[in-house]
Amino acid sequence: MTTQFIPPEWAFEFHGHHCPFMPIGYRMGKLAMEKLELNEREKDHGFFVFPELGEGHPQTCMMDGIQVATGATYGKVLMAKTFYGKLAVTFYHPKKGAVRYSLKNEFVDEMGKHEFFAYRKRGVEPSGIPAEVTNDLIQWVYNQPDDAIYKIEPKPDFTYTPVKGSFNKTKCSICGEYVFDRYLRMKDGQPVCIPCSGYEKTVKIER
Ligand SMILES: [Zn+2]
Ligand SMILES: [Zn+2]
Repeated sequence: MTTQFIPPEWAFEFHGHHCPFMPIGYRMGKLAMEKLELNEREKDHGFFVFPELGEGHPQTCMMDGIQVATGATYGKVLMAKTFYGKLAVTFYHPKKGAVRYSLKNEFVDEMGKHEFFAYRKRGVEPSGIPAEVTNDLIQWVYNQPDDAIYKIEPKPDFTYTPVKGSFNKTKCSICGEYVFDRYLRMKDGQPVCIPCSGYEKTVKIER
């Protein structure tokens, strides 16, 4: 069998390379929408996705496919990672409920035997892997039945309250740039932005 949920070509363009994980995420998003009886991609701000992925592992490409499939995009603040470093995603619609999809261990193990990962483990980026190797793996994924790939768990108790939107903004008393009010800090009794508040002297960003 071949899945009906194959990403459109623009999804690959948006994603930047061909790989198996963007299509796995796309299909997961479409299946979750079907499960929650959502008929169309999210236009506005009503559908939320919580990937349990972290960073520094190749499966994070799934998130681009999920965004394409669902319309629950990072830019609309509909996607927030938990950084658990797990291959699972919870989909939540306030009127339809929540469902968690995860990749089955057996599927991950089987997929990992493919030549594509021999290249990846040598440090070759997906765009540098021969197209026939990548396409062979993508087709193999398309051919797997849904229940060989995904474990599905209803999450009846899951709730989430998004941050309330506001247009209120204030000029920072030091740099003069606008700051949305929930991010304002006070320094010497004056409103300031976070960088001007001096936080950069104490916060070290590690990579
Ligand atoms: Zn990718
Ligand atoms: Zn400032």
